[in-house]
Amino acid sequence: MIQGVKQQKWWGWGEEGKAYQHADKPKFAPFVKRIVGVDINQPRMSPPPFESLDVPPSRLSEELRAEFQAIIGNKFVQSDDETRVVHAFGKGVRDLVRVRRGELGRVPDVVLYPGTEEEVARIVDSAIAADAVVIPFGGGSNIVAALEAEPGETRQVVSVNMGRLNKVLEIDAESGLARIQAGVFGPDMEDQLKARGWTMGHHPDSFVWSTLGGWIATRSSGMQSDKYGDIADIVRGLRMVMPGQILNLRPLPSTSSGPSVREMVLGSEGRLGIITEAWVQVHRIPEVRELQAYFFPSYGDGLRACQQIVESDAAVMMARVSDPMETQYIMANGKKSGRVGSLMSKAISKVMEAKGWDLEGICMSFVGFEGSPNHVRYEKGLVNKIVKANQGMGVGSGPGTLYDQKKYDTPYIRDFMLDHGLVADVSETTTPWAYAESLHTKVQQAVQDALDSRGKRGVVFSHLSHSYHSGACQYFTFAVADDSEDCLDTYDVVKRAIQQTFVDHHGTVSHHHGVGEEHSPWMAEDISEAGVFIQRKLFEGIDPGSNLNPGKII
Ligand code: FAD
Repeated sequence: MIQGVKQQKWWGWGEEGKAYQHADKPKFAPFVKRIVGVDINQPRMSPPPFESLDVPPSRLSEELRAEFQAIIGNKFVQSDDETRVVHAFGKGVRDLVRVRRGELGRVPDVVLYPGTEEEVARIVDSAIAADAVVIPFGGGSNIVAALEAEPGETRQVVSVNMGRLNKVLEIDAESGLARIQAGVFGPDMEDQLKARGWTMGHHPDSFVWSTLGGWIATRSSGMQSDKYGDIADIVRGLRMVMPGQILNLRPLPSTSSGPSVREMVLGSEGRLGIITEAWVQVHRIPEVRELQAYFFPSYGDGLRACQQIVESDAAVMMARVSDPMETQYIMANGKKSGRVGSLMSKAISKVMEAKGWDLEGICMSFVGFEGSPNHVRYEKGLVNKIVKANQGMGVGSGPGTLYDQKKYDTPYIRDFMLDHGLVADVSETTTPWAYAESLHTKVQQAVQDALDSRGKRGVVFSHLSHSYHSGACQYFTFAVADDSEDCLDTYDVVKRAIQQTFVDHHGTVSHHHGVGEEHSPWMAEDISEAGVFIQRKLFEGIDPGSNLNPGKII
């Protein structure tokens, strides 16, 4: 490991020694047992010791090693087994299952840690001259197989970890723009900005373990995108090392200079080069930040309310609503309340019953407000009216505050579930508003049919996570109870059913996770054959030898 560059555990999410706990959440084990029939109080299947893995030896030639050492110094050329395995995968559940089984695929031969853009350029040129494969690495948090070298790759595989390029370089306070190096992780970046009174406002659930370059390369979106925009809106300019040259896009609010090169880089997943820095929009830290919780009697009511909130004069920072199953999951995953809390929940349930709501069908919603106290008061007033008009009711800021505190711990639950034979992952899409509710119903049915076809129990739930003028993103979490050797086949059947339902019913393959290899089978259905043709020509033109992260996207 390189000092100052964070590295996730080789077998799962986040840092070593940190794991999901449910001892303080008494409703969670009964919930899981009831929904998918799995007893999480039973002993767990722990990941194997690293030493039991059969890591293929590095194939890096002595000549290429010497070249890299001359460029960045011996210390930053790493080829020990654990570093190479960490850089072999992202964090999709397929990656997690495979790495636990020791199915390592084509592990990179070397991991490089450049400290300047010039070093990145020299690495790319040396690697391509040696006909090696170059794979940029941010935090390794993607879930679409965007990092793994192709099976059977016979060329040398070089992973370029961007973690030493981690500084906020300058802030143009007059324009609200910051120039930031691509390898910086979310918390480090926000700390540097905050010290100068600014925020970028991009907070994906993977914030702690993902980087600015990775966000750009996958077209990421954060939970506050309703106010701050997706990364595609936030990034105004950038620099990218390409074979033999450096792309420099100055920060501009907008431009009419032909097909957007900036947009071509966004979502390019390392296939066009290595992004070294970006100019991003930054904002003054708001005076007030509040997350208010609401309940709706049905998902349809919640969706309609979110649409109206986003269309209203209340420019909220977040408007999300969970479907009934996700609402039950959130409530079961909450800590045991004290006396006051449990009296309050009972009182709230009584009010809902008095309104004639089916408590199994209720949907929880969070709406986020930011700005001056006056602005927040005004926004809350507007939102309260919309909530009421859609049969909803507010329950205050308590649940939202808890959600805010714990939001970055949630990813650890997937490893815990896997320990208990539950294979869980997520799929997300956008549709126009007109199809949002019907898509939700269709995905639920598709998952049930897929589970039935495998004779397995499982669950799917979702929330509306990001909204736009014409539609919204729905984020589906699914889990299958399968601890057999064939669990990835079951996962594939369910995952395929979800993705196919998306493209068949007005959705895109992905709103913010990108394509990688996981979603590439649906690209022609998503953007048409002609769209794939354009992308292919772009990649071939810039990278005729197919050295830059080949096999991803198309
Ligand atoms: P990596 O995983 O390291 O790389 C992803 C791709 O980008 C690869 O193709 C890589 O080659 C390329 N790349 C990385 N850095 C560069 C660079 N400097 N130049 C060129 N190419 C580069 N995503 C969201 O958008 N929103 C979420 O809320 C969200 N939540 C998640 C929650 C969990 C639990 C998990 C596991 C993932 C989540 N993701 C989310 C997905 C993931 O975090 C994003 O795709 C993220 O943008 C990846 O960033 P990274 O730095 O980890 O990139």
